[in-house]
Amino acid sequence: MKLFNSLGNAKEELQPNPHGKFTMYFCGPTVYNYAHIGNFRTYLLQDVLTRILEVEGYSPCVARNITDVDDKTIRDSIKNNVSLKTFTEKWTKIFHEDCEALNMKSPDFEPKATEHIDEQIDMIKTLMEKGFAYLAPDHSVYFRIASFKEYGRLSNIENRELKTQEIDSAGKKNLADEYDRENVSDFALWKSTKPEDGENFWMSPWGKGRPGWHIECSAMAKKYLGCTIDLHSGGVDLKFPHHENEIAQSECANGKKFVRYWMHVAHLLVDGAKMSKSLGNLYTLGDILKKKYSAQCLRYALIAAHYGQQLNFTFNNLVAAKNAIEKLQNFFHKIAPLQDIQKFEISEWKFLESAFSALLDDMNTPACLGSVFKLINETSPESLNEEQKHTLHREFSTIMYCLGLRLDDKEQDIEVPQEIKRLAKLRWQAKQSKNFVEADRLRQELSKYGWIIKDFSSTYIIEKEEL
Ligand SMILES: [Zn+2]
Repeated sequence: MKLFNSLGNAKEELQPNPHGKFTMYFCGPTVYNYAHIGNFRTYLLQDVLTRILEVEGYSPCVARNITDVDDKTIRDSIKNNVSLKTFTEKWTKIFHEDCEALNMKSPDFEPKATEHIDEQIDMIKTLMEKGFAYLAPDHSVYFRIASFKEYGRLSNIENRELKTQEIDSAGKKNLADEYDRENVSDFALWKSTKPEDGENFWMSPWGKGRPGWHIECSAMAKKYLGCTIDLHSGGVDLKFPHHENEIAQSECANGKKFVRYWMHVAHLLVDGAKMSKSLGNLYTLGDILKKKYSAQCLRYALIAAHYGQQLNFTFNNLVAAKNAIEKLQNFFHKIAPLQDIQKFEISEWKFLESAFSALLDDMNTPACLGSVFKLINETSPESLNEEQKHTLHREFSTIMYCLGLRLDDKEQDIEVPQEIKRLAKLRWQAKQSKNFVEADRLRQELSKYGWIIKDFSSTYIIEKEEL
């Protein structure tokens, strides 16, 4: 598979890891609120990447962290009068439910920052021993950027720019304790405790405090995936300073290259503007469901554009997604072969080669979908014999697996009432046992409620009758 490597800015062939698993680290959520659709665009495209690599035989192994300590989690847990643990566990659970609704695969490892304080302290100690970090008068520990010549290689940031950008992105707060640092762009590895942190601190060789945000990814990536990982990914907003800082920490502490390939997902805009609470255009999965679109529609809308391109999300995207999914489902049911088939044993593609090659070429999801719809428009399932149906169904299923789209009856669960599904199932059973009188009776009963049944060789679909 080829992917655009942000380190070096070129499309490169992903070399499988000679040691077996292809290790990937994805920067995960800070659990203090609902993840919004911009966050999910990144997570979903990472999910698609994982699926493609799995199908292509790379044996991916994924770690995605949970940030359960930072200014926001501490602030909001205190505001809600609950412990940091209770507070972040609640939001982690909600995040997992959203991920499941969006049909995302669980990572192999999902380490929490608070459960890896020792590993973070160890790494900070190493950095201090090697002269890459120093203790400031306020008992915080900072990384000395001047000690790492490679700093800025990923984001192509010059030293001059560094100062102004750091001030811009960090805001006023960090300027307040700027005098404690040797250089304004040095970043915190360990933050000494402040009154507003309450009981949320840990003991360290430098006194009470908590780790800075960046160090958790370096420490946990090392613990679960080793010193050098194959691929690291996150939203493009994490490139600087977060990923730049991760490289500095890991390479200075471990003395080894940190990451072979960097993959960044471009921004999501909503109605042409950056998402923000004040503009009222910050959407969560719950907001989308309230508007009667399924989680799968959202998944489709968020993965349909190329990961390297900004996506301008509007509700029209969801309408288009809904139509597209219906078209895929209809076709999928029409090509269902008589027998159930096992997936993923394609040695030679016959129908959808261009769709799969599009995925292998820098994960071009729009080109992949384009190929799938071209095939749908040009193929009449009725003209296929059983063997061709079998092959096409297998290829189609594989592409849908890569995209994480479910075309079985699960998607219908959202709209078809339980009672209707029960009657439809009874009718199918009656028909299978050749009890045509009963099958007909049930068909008429369903029709009274405004539902019609379409039969295919091995399954059926329930549709709302057009008025
Ligand atoms: Zn990270």
